[in-house]
Amino acid sequence: MIFTVAIDGPAAAGKGTVGRAVAAHFGFAHLDTGLLYRAVGALVREGAEPVAAARGLVPEALEKPGLRSPEVAQAASEVAAIGEVRAALLDFQRGFARREGGAVLDGRDIGTVICPEAEVKLFVTASAEARAGRRLAELVEAGHAANFDSVLADVQARDARDSERATAPLRPADDAHLLDTSELDVAQAVAAAIAKVSAALGR
Ligand code: C5P
Repeated sequence: MIFTVAIDGPAAAGKGTVGRAVAAHFGFAHLDTGLLYRAVGALVREGAEPVAAARGLVPEALEKPGLRSPEVAQAASEVAAIGEVRAALLDFQRGFARREGGAVLDGRDIGTVICPEAEVKLFVTASAEARAGRRLAELVEAGHAANFDSVLADVQARDARDSERATAPLRPADDAHLLDTSELDVAQAVAAAIAKVSAALGR
């Protein structure tokens, strides 16, 4: 069975949490596409040229420690604005989306560019303050030094860059279901997403 769930939305809206839970529930494969851009951003911070880094990306690069840091997130959103970087990562993501057995991909352009034919599209969002609060808790939990104002500024800077870039800007697909998680806890957000996928699967 080919069945794609495309989950897009701004930084720290809960796409990853929802995506992982939906994949586990239905037994689908899951790809956090932000990690691809983070891996390229990390290589660029080490001196690599962005397009060459994207073309030569190997699976082990996605396991490098430190990819979740705020510095790598900023570098990721800078390389993600380069059209040739996005083009280099396209085939891998498309292949993953249409693999046998079902797939969930979360990112910024899955429903609009990577897999416009996805059977379910979700646009997961939340207020910038709610997202910054959640990201701060994750960073503190992972041992990073961070404070609310700097995390909020980081979230807003990435939102602006991701939404305003010329290539594959962040926007909901016309046929995406909007899921605002500002007032939802994780279980409620996951349940809402699973309900949409169940309806499309007819089970
Ligand atoms: O989702 P995450 O915060 O890990 O993504 C890091 C950055 O990668 C985003 O700010 C965005 O610029 C970029 N990205 C993208 N397209 C995707 C996934 C991530 O441009 N599909």
